[in-house]
Amino acid sequence: MAAGEAVVVGVRVRPFNDRENNLNAVVCIDMEGPTTRIRNIDTGDEKTFTFDESFWSHDGFEDDGTGYLRPLPNSKYADQRYVFDTFGQRVLDNAWNGFHCCLFAYGQTGAGKSYSMVGYGNNKGIVPISCEEIFRRIGQEKDPQKRYEVTVSMIEIYNEAIQDLLIDVELRPKKGLEVRESKALGIYIDGVIKRPVESYEAIETTIEEATNHRTVGSTLMNATSSRAHTVQIIEFKAVKDGSATVSMINLVDLAGSEKAGQTGATGDRLKEGSMINKSLSALGNVIEKLADRGSEKKKNVLIPYRDSKLTRLLQNALGGSSKTIMICALSPASSNHEETLSTLRYADRAKKIKNIAVPNENPQERLMRELREENEKFKKIFEAMQGGTMPSADEIKEMGLAQQEIAAMEGALAELNKSWEDKVAESREQQEAARMRRSSVNGVAALKKNLQPMMVNLNEDKTLVGRVRFSFPPGRTLIGGLGDESDSDSESGSESDSDSSTGSQPEGEKSPEEMFEDEDESPHIELGEGVARRHAVVFHDNDQNLCTIYAASEEGLKQTFVNGKSLRQLLKSQGLEEVICRQKDKPEAAGIELSHADTLVFGRHFFVFVDHMVCAPEILIASGQVDYAQAKREWQMEQLSGVHESLIVATRGGVLGVSHVMELAEKDEIIESQKAEIAELKQQMVTMKAELDRYKKMAGGRLAAGANMLGELYADELLESQMDEISKDIQKTFKDAIDQMNDVQAIFSKKALREGHLTWRSVT
Ligand code: ADP
Ligand code: MG
Repeated sequence: MAAGEAVVVGVRVRPFNDRENNLNAVVCIDMEGPTTRIRNIDTGDEKTFTFDESFWSHDGFEDDGTGYLRPLPNSKYADQRYVFDTFGQRVLDNAWNGFHCCLFAYGQTGAGKSYSMVGYGNNKGIVPISCEEIFRRIGQEKDPQKRYEVTVSMIEIYNEAIQDLLIDVELRPKKGLEVRESKALGIYIDGVIKRPVESYEAIETTIEEATNHRTVGSTLMNATSSRAHTVQIIEFKAVKDGSATVSMINLVDLAGSEKAGQTGATGDRLKEGSMINKSLSALGNVIEKLADRGSEKKKNVLIPYRDSKLTRLLQNALGGSSKTIMICALSPASSNHEETLSTLRYADRAKKIKNIAVPNENPQERLMRELREENEKFKKIFEAMQGGTMPSADEIKEMGLAQQEIAAMEGALAELNKSWEDKVAESREQQEAARMRRSSVNGVAALKKNLQPMMVNLNEDKTLVGRVRFSFPPGRTLIGGLGDESDSDSESGSESDSDSSTGSQPEGEKSPEEMFEDEDESPHIELGEGVARRHAVVFHDNDQNLCTIYAASEEGLKQTFVNGKSLRQLLKSQGLEEVICRQKDKPEAAGIELSHADTLVFGRHFFVFVDHMVCAPEILIASGQVDYAQAKREWQMEQLSGVHESLIVATRGGVLGVSHVMELAEKDEIIESQKAEIAELKQQMVTMKAELDRYKKMAGGRLAAGANMLGELYADELLESQMDEISKDIQKTFKDAIDQMNDVQAIFSKKALREGHLTWRSVT
C-alpha cells in the first residue's frame, strides 16, 4: 500500500501596513530557510517552527516600476512569482498527473491570504498565475489526439450556506446549495454552475463576475468578506481516445481565523449556536483529528467532516485522495503576536496530516460499474418482494439512498453525454441571458450612473471596494434597510433610551408628524440588516449640484454618519435644528450637505460619496484618499468620543503620547467589534431557534401524514397496518428505480458504443 503523503505547509509574512508603520510596530517574526521563529517581546519567549517553506515577504523588496514588488539583490524576499513557483507549480503538476488537489490560505484578516491567493494589481497571486499557466501548458500539448476541458465554479460559504457566485444574487436559492455524496461521483455540490472556459481571459472574466456578485451580496447582507470562505473549483479534464482523467483543483481563501478565537471567547454556548464560524472551527477539529491519525497515535479516530459545509466539501482534499497544500499568512507585528502564534500552531498541526492520493480513474467506467452493482442489488430485493418477502428496514433506507444516487448519476451521465461544444454553447447562452436580464433591469440607469453624484461601497477587502454604486438622481432618494417591519423607529438594542416609549405606541396613536407621507413606500436604495426601513433621505439639487442628507427616522438620526459623526451630532455642532424628514418634499430646515470623498455610514454599511463633477469613483479610490480601515476607525473613534475627549485633552497636555491614544482607541475598537459580534451571534441564535421550532412543527406534520415519506422512515417505527398499505408503494418505487436504471444504462451503452472505446453487455 502507498505510504501517506503529508500535507505541504508554508507560512508567509507580509510587510508592515501603513498603520503598523505609523505606530512604529515591532517585528516579532524571523525566518531562516524553512524555519520560522516568533518572539514575544514582552516576555522574551521564543518559539521555533519548521515548515516545507517559510516565505519571507516582510522586507528587502522594491517596486520594479510597474507596481510589481521584486526582491532587492541578495535579499531573501519571496515575491509572488517565487511563491507560485514553489507552491502553484506543484498544484498544477499534480492536476496534470490526474490527482485532485487543494490549496488553502489560512490566517487572520489582513495577514495576506488574498494577496497570496488572488493578489492585487500587478502582483498577481497563485490563482490567476495558475490559470494562465494551465492554458500555456494546454497550448504546448503536442499530442493532437489529446483534448482538454476546463470548467470553473466559484462558491462562497457564509453562515453555513453555500452560494453560487456565478448566479445573480437575487436569483440564488435562499438556503444555498447542498453538498452531496455519491459513491460513484464522490463529493459534489448539487447544482453548482460549472462554467466552461477556453482561455485565461475567460477565467479572468468569470472571476470578475463572481467578485461582483460577492460584493453585491455582502454589501446588501452587511456581511464582511472576512467571514466568508471563498472556494474556486477548477475541473480539469484531459480526454484522449474517448477516455478521460478528471482532476479537481480547489483553491480556498478561508475566512479570517481571528473570528474563531473571538467566538471561543464569548462562551461555549454561543460557540455552539454560532454558524458564522462553524466551518472554521470544524476545519480546526478535522485537522486536529487528522493530525492525530497521521502521527500514528490513534489510527481509528472518527473524523467529523459532517460538522460543517466547508469540511464536508473538502473531505477529499483533507483526508482523502488529494494532494493538499496550505499557505498560512502571518502578520509581522508584535501587536498581533497571539493571533500569529495561533496560526503557526495551526500550520504545525496541519503538516502532520497524511493523505494517500491515487490518480483518478475514468469517471465513465466507474459510473458504469457502480450502476451495474446497484442494479443487481435492487433486482434481488425486487425478486424477493415478488416472492412475498417484505424488505427490511435497512433495505428500505438503502433504497432511499440509492434513489438519490441514481438521480446524481443520471445528472452526471447527462453531463457526460453533452459534448464539450454543447456545454460551451449552453453556458454562453446562459451568460447572455443573465446579461440581458441585468441590462434590462438597470438599463438606462446604468448608462446614467456615472453622470450623477453617487455613493460607492467601502470594504475591508480591497478587491471589493467601489463595486456597488448607488447614484442620486435629481430629487429625492430614500435609503433604507430591513429594519423592523412594524416600525422603523423602534429602538431595538438601545437600553438606556429615554424616548423608547414612542416605539411601542400603537400605530393609530402616532402624532401626524411621526407618520410617513407614504407608509408603504419602499426605499430606493435597500441596504439590508442594521438599517431602519426608512433610514435617511438624500435630496439632489441638480441646478446647484448639491446633495443634502436628512435622517428619515429616529434610528437614522443616530445611525447615519458623515465622516464618522452622526447626523444628530452634526446638526447639534452646526447649531441646526434636529429634523427628521418623513415627507416627500425637501424640508425647510437645513440638512447636512455632502462633499466629494465624504464617508457615509448607514448602520454598519460603509460608503464614500462621489461628486461626479470632481472625478470618477475609480480615480477617487485609486488616489488612496479614502479607505475602509480609516473610515471605520474614524467612525469607531467618534462613537467612543466621550471617553476619548479626556484622553485627547491629556495628549495635548503632553501626558500621553499620540501612539498611546491610538492604542487605547485600538482596544476600544476591538471591544466594539466584539460587541457587534455578540449581537450578531444573539441574532443568529434567535433565527436558529425559530428555524428549529419550524422544523419541529413540520416534522410533526410529516409523521402524521405518514406513508409517503418512505425514504426517511424506518420500518420498525411503522405500524403493521401501514406496512401493508405501503408495501405496494415500495414495490412500485423499486420497479420504477429499476426501469430508470435500465434507461440510464441504455443511454450509456449507446454512448459507449458510439465512441467505440467500451463494450457494454447489458445485465438481463
Ligand atoms: P487577508 O486576505 O488575509 O485579509 P490581504 O491579502 O487582503 O489580507 O492583505 C492585507 C494587506 O496586506 C493588503 O493591502 C495587501 O496588499 C498587503 N499584503 C499582504 N501580503 C503582502 C505581501 N506578501 N507583500 C506585500 N503586501 C502584502
Ligand atoms: Mg482576504
